[in-house]
Formats: sequence, structure tokens, C-alpha cells
Amino acid sequence: MAQLLVVEDDERIRTALIRALRERGHAVSSAGTAMSGLQQAVEERPDLVVLDLGLPDLDGAELLRMLRAVSAVPVIVATARDDDGSIVSALDAGADDYVLKPFQAGQLEARIRAVLRRSGGGETGPEPVTVGNLTVDPRSRRVSLAGRPVELAPKEFDLLAYLAARVGTVVPKRDLLREVWQLPYGGSDKTVDVHLSWLRRKLGESAAEPRLLQTVRGVGVRLVEPEP
Ligand code: CA
Repeated sequence: MAQLLVVEDDERIRTALIRALRERGHAVSSAGTAMSGLQQAVEERPDLVVLDLGLPDLDGAELLRMLRAVSAVPVIVATARDDDGSIVSALDAGADDYVLKPFQAGQLEARIRAVLRRSGGGETGPEPVTVGNLTVDPRSRRVSLAGRPVELAPKEFDLLAYLAARVGTVVPKRDLLREVWQLPYGGSDKTVDVHLSWLRRKLGESAAEPRLLQTVRGVGVRLVEPEP
């Protein structure tokens, strides 16, 4: 677990990001402007800052320069601009890495882990979860079933890890669309169903004979300890 500071003026993105990072086991604080972000970065001494480059009061790269004058905290820049110039200037200003918007929370999390590893921030991310003979390790993104590795596509892993973080709880499909697929509005239940079906196949079960992954009709999906 790491203490993160998210500096992002778009409330919708900020809220989604905070939730996604908290769910991945981090402590997250946030700021909506560059100046409050700078102040919090100094006062709260986070392990890492996720910084939006397009802020209302000050350009993110400018903030980064000011921050670098007082702190060596690792910074990951998030930007919608895909022109090389702004990324290069952010890296020049002292960013450790960057992600382009729109990005998936899982992608950002991977960057966060890599940056913290490089900066010697120690271990991050939640502990492995074991359910029956299934083990899901969010840090290494490895899954094993009865001791054997299971190869999952990134979204299959994200879905399983999300359910594994809340074993026994029925998670509505719209929550999965919002949190795993980053689709706060809309998105089709079919997306969840299709991935669920692939996931089940890889875990050696089916919708007709579920073991670990149970669908509760009209409510959602949960990961459960299998019946002996
Ligand atoms: Ca912005």
C-alpha cells in the first residue's frame, strides 16, 4: 500500500481514480488545483503523485518544476495531450513516468508499482488472495489454480482481481463496467458476461456448473469459496 496524491481538476476523473486506487489498496488524497496540490504534496509527503498536466490555475509542468524544487517525490503525469512536446517537457521537468488519457486504472497501477519499485518505495499493492484452490496475486498479476499457473488476458485478470478483493460479495455488473472497464456511463452487461465466460473456461468451470464464480441473476457476480 502506498500513500498517493492525485492532482486532477476533472471531478469525474478524480473521483473514479481515487476509488480505483483505493480499491487497489492505496491511501489516496486529492487536489483539484495546482496550488493546493503543491501544498498537499509538501504537507502530506505522499509516496507518489499522479499529476494531471492540464490544470486550471497553473500548467502541470510548471507545478512539477515548483514541486521538484522542494521534493523528490515520484510523479506520474497523466495527460490527454498526446503531442510529444508536452510529455517531453513534463519528463524534463522531473516526471518519472506518464500515462495518456484515457487510461485504465490497472495500467496506471502498473506504472505506479514500477515507479515505486524504482524509487525504492518498497512493496505496494494488496496481498494475494486465496479462495479454495485459487490464488490471485494483484502485485505480480499472477493467478494459480491448484498450484498451476493460469494465463489470463489483462481484462480477465482485472475482473478476477476485483472480485477477489471482495470475496463473497455480489458485485453488480454496472459496478464492474465502471471499475474494471472504466465505463462510468453505459457499457453493456454483455461485456461482463463474455469475459466472465472466458474466465470460467480458464478456471475449469461453466455458467451451468459454477464453482468459484457465481452469477446471481438480476444482481451481479461474486467469487466464493467453493463447496467441498
Ligand atoms: Ca485537466
